[in-house]
Amino acid sequence: MYNRPFNDNSYEQFLKEEKIMGSQCQKCGALALPPRPICVSCFGSELEWIQFRGVGKLAAFTSIIVAPPFMAKEGFSKNNPYVVGVVELEESAKIVARITGVDAKKPEEIKVGTPLKAEFIHSGQGPEQKTYLAFKP
Ligand SMILES: [Zn+2]
Repeated sequence: MYNRPFNDNSYEQFLKEEKIMGSQCQKCGALALPPRPICVSCFGSELEWIQFRGVGKLAAFTSIIVAPPFMAKEGFSKNNPYVVGVVELEESAKIVARITGVDAKKPEEIKVGTPLKAEFIHSGQGPEQKTYLAFKP
């Protein structure tokens, strides 16, 4: 389907195109998201791209008050925390991503099991341009 290497660069390129792409082993069927060049389960190297629908539910989360520089640039800080969570996708793969559309200051109101949908956050310009995967209720 796509002639791209199974690595983080390809994964990020697909995110820019607003696609969530992982790898699937042709031998045992195991999924990897982000994609890995070798099957994480049977170490096979016969892989195929698989597109994830971006629908899942919140499996775990944490409210982050110490923002890395690129998040600090967007205005996140101790007084303006953000949420990162583990999302269990309906294809039964898990991914760590930012959770938007929830109140990071009230983590007690965020519920594990909340249905989520993928959102693509484009930031920066030109060669600096990057796309982050986030999920929102
Ligand atoms: Zn495998």
